[in-house]
Amino acid sequence: MNTQLIKELQNIQGVKIVAVSKRRTKEQIDEAHRHGLNTFGENRVQEFLEKYDPKYSWHIIGHLQTNKVKYIIGKVDLIESLDSIKLAKEIEKQAAKQGLIQKVLVQIKISEDPNKTGLPYQDALPFIKELQSLKHIQVKGLMCVATHTEDMELVKEEFMKMNQLFQELKSKDPQIDTLSMGMSHDYKLAIECGSTMVRIGTALFE
Ligand SMILES: *Cc1c(COP(=O)(O)O)cnc(C)c1O
Repeated sequence: MNTQLIKELQNIQGVKIVAVSKRRTKEQIDEAHRHGLNTFGENRVQEFLEKYDPKYSWHIIGHLQTNKVKYIIGKVDLIESLDSIKLAKEIEKQAAKQGLIQKVLVQIKISEDPNKTGLPYQDALPFIKELQSLKHIQVKGLMCVATHTEDMELVKEEFMKMNQLFQELKSKDPQIDTLSMGMSHDYKLAIECGSTMVRIGTALFE
């Protein structure tokens, strides 16, 4: 456990830490909690359900299949990977059933990498507008995964584009307050570019 990094991140005002616990054991999660971490991110529903503990706050950060939504509503505080209307409608349906409002982030495909998922950048505004009619979904902001590259200029460009969109949304809607970007290898740059939430796995647990 990288306790130095935890302390460093906890000292940064306005940036929330999501400890990405995929492939980590329940024991590692409990240990992270003893070091002051309370929010955990999982990218697969099955694995999340195996490790779910209501003492902690959980985020889903990976591509989410519509047929899995029913298993996670009521257990996750934030779905960070909303990227289609079909998925939004299913979240709406399941949240309504449980009488709760599900907080979500819209995942934007900021990278050219064909393996990355998310909504095209230019679709974000009309998409978020469309979500307004879904009363059991609350959009808190945006999430992205930048291109995995040593070219930090490219990563910076992507983060700055995300921040620009985030600021635009925020100025129209005070409920929007979260820009989730930055992982183990690029969180410093992400924070410089306006990130309010970093999702870190490897650098914390190894
Ligand atoms: C795995 C993962 C992370 C964390 O990656 P690390 O490089 O281990 O910090 C962050 N976000 C998403 C969406 C992930 O799948």
